[in-house]
Amino acid sequence: MKQIYMDHGATTPVDPLVVDAMLPYFTETFGNASSLHSFGQEATSALEQSRQQVAASIGAKPEEIIFTSGGTESDNLAIKGIAYRNSGKGKHIITSTIEHPAILNTCAYLEKEGFDVTYVPADSDGIIDMDELKKAIRDDTILISVMHANNEIGTIQPISDISKLAKEKSIYLHTDAVQSFGKIAVNVDELGVDMLSMSSHKIYGPKGVGALYVRKGTLLQALAHGGSHERSMRAGTENISGIVGFAKAVALADERLVDDAKHMTQLRDSLIEKVMDSIDDVELSGHPTNRLPNNVNLRFSFIEGESMLLFLDMKGIAISTGSACSSKSLEPSHVLTAIGLRPEDSHGSLRITLGKDNTQEEVDYVVDALVEVVGRLRAMSPIAGKMSLK
Ligand SMILES: *Cc1c(COP(=O)(O)O)cnc(C)c1O
Repeated sequence: MKQIYMDHGATTPVDPLVVDAMLPYFTETFGNASSLHSFGQEATSALEQSRQQVAASIGAKPEEIIFTSGGTESDNLAIKGIAYRNSGKGKHIITSTIEHPAILNTCAYLEKEGFDVTYVPADSDGIIDMDELKKAIRDDTILISVMHANNEIGTIQPISDISKLAKEKSIYLHTDAVQSFGKIAVNVDELGVDMLSMSSHKIYGPKGVGALYVRKGTLLQALAHGGSHERSMRAGTENISGIVGFAKAVALADERLVDDAKHMTQLRDSLIEKVMDSIDDVELSGHPTNRLPNNVNLRFSFIEGESMLLFLDMKGIAISTGSACSSKSLEPSHVLTAIGLRPEDSHGSLRITLGKDNTQEEVDYVVDALVEVVGRLRAMSPIAGKMSLK
C-alpha cells in the first residue's frame, strides 16, 4: 500500500545526507571531546565546527550555543535556568496558554516551587494578546517565554514586538523555535531574544539532540552538574555523532529554506482550498496567513478526529489530531481550547504537517481520502445533517 507521511510536526525522517555525515563519528572518529589525544581533538574539532554551523544559521556566536538532548531539555534549561539563577531579583514568569508541554509543565513545576506564572491568552487566530502581556509585566518579572510558531496550529508570534516590551523592562526573553527553525528565517537579533530552543529531529536530523541559544551575558544556572562540558552549562560527554548530524541538517535546511518554504506553502494552500471546496462544515484553525508554511489544521463538524485518523491510517496516510505529545489523551487540545474552540470542535480537528518531500499527487490523494472518510463518518453520525454550525 502507498504510504503518505504528513505528520512532520511530530518528527521527520533523517535525511540520507545527514546519516552519511554522522556515520564516521560512530566507528572511526569516536573520540571523547574531553580527551587530549588526537582522537579527542578530532571529536572537539567536529563539535566546534557543528557549533559554528548552528550559530551561523541563527546569527549567533558559537559560544552562545549549548548542545542539549533536544527541544524539551532546551526549554527546561531556559526556564529553570533563569528562574533558579535570578530568583533573588524576582520569582515571576510570563508565558502563554498555547505553549508546548515542555514549557507549560516546566512552568507548572516551578509554581510548585514557589514561582508565580502568568499565562497570557491568545486570540482566535492563536496570536497572543499584547495588551494582556503588557499588563502582566511586574517589577518582579524575570522571564517572558513565548513560542515562535505553534506546533498545532502553526501560528507565528510577533516575537520582535514582545522583545521591545521585554527590553524596556530588562526582562529576559526566551522563545521555543522548535517548529519555526529550519522552516522560516530565524535570527536571534531580528527576533531580539535572549534564549532560543531548537531541536534536530523536526528538521530531518536525528532524535535526541538539539540546542539552546543563550545570549552572551544572560545569567543562567546549569541543571546538570558534572564535567565542564558546554561551558559548564550542560555536563556530560557530548553526543558527537548526533551533534554532527544536527549541524548537517541545519546546513541543508539553510540551503533549501526558500525553495522548501515555497513548495510547502503551495501544497498547504492547495490542500486547504481543495478540502474547503469539496467538504462542507470545515474550518481552518490558526492564523489564515501568518502561519508555518507546512501547517494545516482543519476542524470537521459532527465527527471525531481520532476516527478520521484511524480510517486515514488504513489508507496509508499518517496525520495527527493534535501534537504527538498530547494525542494519546482524550482531553481536547489545550491549544484549541485556548483559542476559543468548543470541545466538540476540537474533537473534530486534524493536524496535517507537510514535509519537503511531499508532492501535489500526495496532497490530491489525501484530499480524496478525506472526502471519502468524512462522508462515511458523517453518514454514521447521528447529529450530522441535522444541525449546522452557523
Ligand atoms: C517537538 C517540540 C518540542 C520538543 O522537542 P524534542 O526535541 O522532541 O524534545 C518542544 N517544543 C515544540 C514547539 C515542539 O514542537
